[in-house]
Amino acid sequence: MKTILLLGATGSIGKSTLDIIRQFPEKCKLIGIAGGKNRNALEKIGKEFSLEKSQIFLSDENKENIEMFIRKNNADIYVNAISGEAGIPATREIIQQKNPLCLANKESLVGHGIFINRTKKCEIIPIDSEHSSMAHLLSQVKKTEVKKIWLTASGGPFRDREKFPIEKFSQLSKHDALNHPTWEMGQKISIDSATLMNKAFELIEAMRLFDFPIETYQVVVHPQSIIHAAVETHDGNIIMEASTPSMHLPIARSLFTAMKESVPQKFSIEHFSPFGKNLTFEKLDNERFPSLLFAKKALELGEKKCQELLHANDESVHLFLEEKISFAEIFKRIEKIF
Ligand code: NDP
Ligand code: MG
Repeated sequence: MKTILLLGATGSIGKSTLDIIRQFPEKCKLIGIAGGKNRNALEKIGKEFSLEKSQIFLSDENKENIEMFIRKNNADIYVNAISGEAGIPATREIIQQKNPLCLANKESLVGHGIFINRTKKCEIIPIDSEHSSMAHLLSQVKKTEVKKIWLTASGGPFRDREKFPIEKFSQLSKHDALNHPTWEMGQKISIDSATLMNKAFELIEAMRLFDFPIETYQVVVHPQSIIHAAVETHDGNIIMEASTPSMHLPIARSLFTAMKESVPQKFSIEHFSPFGKNLTFEKLDNERFPSLLFAKKALELGEKKCQELLHANDESVHLFLEEKISFAEIFKRIEKIF
């Protein structure tokens, strides 16, 4: 039986993680939860899992910080599913301990990946679906065999060039941007998916998780979100991972990897059937969505620039969600850091 501390329990990844913990009471036990401001939702989870006050952390109200909460609630497995830059202090604390970290908060690796790799004492197991697939695929080949690593992107709600030409970007609403075609996610990452900044961050995340040069990675738009990643070997073979777009699978894999087990047979998600499916792949439109170019530039300039990119994006997304700036302005504000 492994104990789990779940940070960001009330969010999209947090809720899916709870589903898995509920499904395997014989394997794992929730011993603490943290959230931002949604007290009712957090307390409801606390009640369901019989947690005491000291095992529940609400950032808006707690006098102590999240680092202290983590130190007081040691677990066998940590899950960091806090969104945005707010998730970074928790990662920095957890990596000082030896137990594995199942990491959804990609911002930690984007802004501090070099530092984290240099100082971590624990294993970091990605939850992000593309990186979960990459890790799985890379475990099947020798490092020297790898020619390319394909990172797939849905293209977001504004993929259609005819319907959403760049000239219309200043009129796109928050509602349009939150309407993701294939994934159901929290607000921040949904906007990041619409700008393709999510993919840009995922490139940096992959650079920090796996030890390959930037030229190895290739981002490809795959609107159906069925293939999550692919690895091309020098012999011309390409291996791909396919599954229904649901975060339950990468979360389960991450948790069971942390338990040093495979995902049990009784785990089930909607089965993906390839029959009658049209899987398509397209080039990324860097002109309408310059996010990936920003990420490459930031990687070139170093970790400090990656932090600036992260910060400029976090700020811009919040302003856009408050309807204070337009969709087009998100890119303009970020571009200024270069
Ligand atoms: P949500 O917005 O749905 O949830 C965010 C969670 O973080 C909530 O529980 C929120 O609490 C909590 N939180 C916010 N601020 C703080 C804080 N200062 N201290 C403690 N908790 C806080 O986000 P997602 O679940 O969508 O995403 C979480 C992370 O996972 C992000 O980094 C995202 O990039 C990554 N990710 C998400 C995927 C997805 O499919 N959703 C896929 C891959 C990665 P409250 O409810 O109280 O505000
Ligand atoms: Mg992803």
